[in-house]
Amino acid sequence: MNNFELKNPTKIIFGKDTIAQIKNEIPQDAKVLLLYGGGSIKKNGIYDQVKTALANVEVVEFGGIPANPEYAVLMDALKVIKDEKISYLLAVGGGSVIDGTKFLSAAALFEGDTPWDILTENIKTEKGMPFGTVLTLPATGSEMNSGAVITRKETKEKLAMGGPGLFPEFSVLDPQVIASIPERQLANGLTDAFTHVLEQYMTYPIGALLQDRFAESILQTIIEVAPKVIKDPTDYEATSNFMWSCTMALNGLIQKGVPGDWAVHAIGHELTALFGIDHARTLAVIAPSHYKFNFEDKKEKLAQYGERVWNISEGSIDDKAYAAIEKTEAFFHELGIDTKLSDYTKDYDGTAEEIAKRFTDRGWLGLGEHQTLSPDKVEKIVKMAY
Ligand code: NAP
Ligand code: FE
Repeated sequence: MNNFELKNPTKIIFGKDTIAQIKNEIPQDAKVLLLYGGGSIKKNGIYDQVKTALANVEVVEFGGIPANPEYAVLMDALKVIKDEKISYLLAVGGGSVIDGTKFLSAAALFEGDTPWDILTENIKTEKGMPFGTVLTLPATGSEMNSGAVITRKETKEKLAMGGPGLFPEFSVLDPQVIASIPERQLANGLTDAFTHVLEQYMTYPIGALLQDRFAESILQTIIEVAPKVIKDPTDYEATSNFMWSCTMALNGLIQKGVPGDWAVHAIGHELTALFGIDHARTLAVIAPSHYKFNFEDKKEKLAQYGERVWNISEGSIDDKAYAAIEKTEAFFHELGIDTKLSDYTKDYDGTAEEIAKRFTDRGWLGLGEHQTLSPDKVEKIVKMAY
């Protein structure tokens, strides 16, 4: 196991009818900016619950943060924060609203030239404006981690940021919010969380026995609840386990002491930036090719995953590893998620070269847990995913 440090300061408030508790978490003298997305919270009653809870606090609102939070929209929100002298941010939404709020938390206190530098210059935020979240869509783990991904349409870029100052102070997780999520987004959430675990688990085994079993238990739980969540998003047992699995998949715990891969996300982000494909779907496109391309490096762990998570008992290490990749792809298909780029766009010619060029220009010359995935290898993986 590798050396590690672990500190996660986010307070989780989990369970039925917990949204009312935000009133105990936000300072009474705060001036709050309530941030939300395209308006789903106004149809499913979440907005009303939040407003009731904040009845005694001064609140300004900013809605309209789009899926894949857009820099230009966030810059409008930043102006509101400055003009209105906001002191506390409350994100009510999925990963997009929460990530957008993290960007604002960092940008509000940023002293450099332009907040875009936070993304391009990889500036780690040590201290941000305090914020909390009400999670409306289990998927990203953003509610309990310090990372965010921001999109800039103008330049077709999607870049990550983060830092120890960007953990939410609190996050409210009421699984009842899942009832109104459309099937497409439920499938996305299951796929995103599943892939988060794979990114931190599917590396050469280094004797981190407990982390492996944490990861496998999250994967098994997602596989078990997935059909139930899709069939009935009011099934509390299934949805509560789904929600907590998504948080645990990316709150820092399973990554401690092990190498992380994250190449699937890095490549996937480019597919969202270029074609607007949902984040989770880009992962389902890239993951199978990535594991096939890096088969020799990853086959021991793939076989372990096959044995422990998919109960594959027959055959050699190679057989089990290959069958595990097939099981993974079949799982995405069962969720209604296509796994080839050509299923999403007819315009895919040249995509692999374009992504390889972007990575070269950014100096991303070695992705993956061994930093060996050069742009020419990335190009091959993307071509395999056409
Ligand atoms: P999302 O983009 O936040 O939301 C997707 C859609 O679901 C939106 O249209 C939203 O509508 C709707 N929705 C959310 N909650 C709903 C509810 N309870 N009922 C009905 N509709 C609801 O989806 P996401 O998958 O959570 O976030 C994706 C973003 O997170 C991507 O940009 C991705 O790159 C990023 N990400 C971040 C991390 C991280 O660690 N920070 C990790 C992985 C991915 P409204 O707009 O109306 O709310
Ligand atoms: Fe993700």
